[in-house]
Amino acid sequence: MAVDVLKRVPVREQDPKVRAANFKEVCLGYNDEEAKAEASRCLNCKNPQCVKGCPVAIHINEFIHEIQQGNIERAADIIALSSSLPAVCGRVCPQETQCEGKCIRGFKGEPVAIGKLERYVADWAREHGYFAAKAGKPNGKKVAVIGAGPSGLTCAGDLAKLGYEVTIFEALHEPGGVLIYGIPEFRLPKDAVVIPEIENVKKLGVKIDTNVIVGRSITVDELLNEEGFDAVFLGTGAGLPKFMNIPGETANGVYSANEFLTRNNLMKAFRTDSDTPIKCGKKAVIVGGGNVAMDAARTALRLGAEVHVVYRRSEAELPARVEEVHHAKEEGIIFDLLQNPVEILTDENDWVKGVKIQKMELGEPDASGRRRPIPIEGSEYVLDCDCVIMSLGTSPNPLITSTTEGLEANNRGCIIAKEENGETTKQGVYAGGDAVTGAATVILAMGAGKAAAKGIDEYLNGRKE
Ligand code: FAD
Ligand code: SF4
Repeated sequence: MAVDVLKRVPVREQDPKVRAANFKEVCLGYNDEEAKAEASRCLNCKNPQCVKGCPVAIHINEFIHEIQQGNIERAADIIALSSSLPAVCGRVCPQETQCEGKCIRGFKGEPVAIGKLERYVADWAREHGYFAAKAGKPNGKKVAVIGAGPSGLTCAGDLAKLGYEVTIFEALHEPGGVLIYGIPEFRLPKDAVVIPEIENVKKLGVKIDTNVIVGRSITVDELLNEEGFDAVFLGTGAGLPKFMNIPGETANGVYSANEFLTRNNLMKAFRTDSDTPIKCGKKAVIVGGGNVAMDAARTALRLGAEVHVVYRRSEAELPARVEEVHHAKEEGIIFDLLQNPVEILTDENDWVKGVKIQKMELGEPDASGRRRPIPIEGSEYVLDCDCVIMSLGTSPNPLITSTTEGLEANNRGCIIAKEENGETTKQGVYAGGDAVTGAATVILAMGAGKAAAKGIDEYLNGRKE
């Protein structure tokens, strides 16, 4: 296969017209020949900047070198040293601002497609039944992990490799956190990708106890003082949605993006036989411009609605990944930019019938560094719609901090924990991921889970590398 060293080997995708009507994965990934060709673009740098850009420091240059040689098992071994969820990360990490953003090839041409190569190796390993990691020799110590999202799964996996007996307590009926309930199937297939990666964590001996809400079913103090756990890791995420507090927001047909996506992904609301179907109607308005807004918009589109994304700044300020905006546009999502809802209008049965929207213009930059949106007086108009999905961000649920003696949170409700080892204000309790940072990314949550596993190991065994 001929390779232009300045350009990436293009990755195959489902046709936008076809995929807009199905929930199958959009990106089809590289085949063997394409992966080898893309890997051949890597310069195997002596001082690889890509590794510095990866929050879990995967030895990227080394695994790509193994792909070049055709040693995919060895490539999987190298990735497994640093990441327990490579098929997930290869699909959803914002590589453009991390490893690929630092790749030397990017100075003159396109960076190496590191994410797509990671995904290729992880998919190959799964399809060939190859699993590299092994549990450590039991050391007789028990750790409880609260939350089965990427931070909890990573922390649990790393502790199991060190010989700890680990139980994850998860509030929902399925493990995976946002990977299962938030990110849609068309970006991250559940049966084919997420569940096998969770099974790999279980293969290390990690137990997962679902339907346990820590803070209600059992408290952190009880786990430590009565259930014999030597330490606890909190990876409870940031699942509490924010709203605008405008009139009409409590009407039927107004959802938080979290509820909308959870009902689709976890409770399969898109199926006609669903016990809890979602009424999306003919026209849906999504408020917000982040990645979660794009996921909600593209899901509503697949449920048959005409979809408008209403965002108060301009395209340049859209917080969503460029790739997500590009995919959304290709599929036919309409972007109503520099516009802001001021009221949700309802019918006599309190169902949404439209949104009153005010147009905006950009002023001087605000504290976030982005230009401040300023309302234009007299510019209001009504956009008729059947449902409104609020996607304005999330914060951590206060349940754990309010039920755990001595555990402190900051003024944003985030658990206070040290970045280097996850240590909280309570002895024996560690935390990481969105519960500490607020809504962030999968790889940062994984990095925090790893750091906390090391911190817990040092606390319980006094071991240092
Ligand atoms: P979570 O994934 O939120 O997991 C926390 C888990 O803890 C959940 O399973 C929850 O049920 C459980 N839990 C909470 N409270 C309790 C309790 N009291 N007792 C027991 N269990 C509890 N990031 C990316 O990098 N790329 C993307 O493309 C991307 N897309 C996203 C799309 C959506 C729709 C959303 C919502 C987020 C997205 N993110 C993305 C962000 C990313 O998913 C999160 O940053 C990441 O999942 C955080 O991991 P976590 O382990 O900290 O928390
Ligand atoms: Fe390869 Fe780019 Fe990393 Fe260099 S910086 S080793 S070219 S991926």
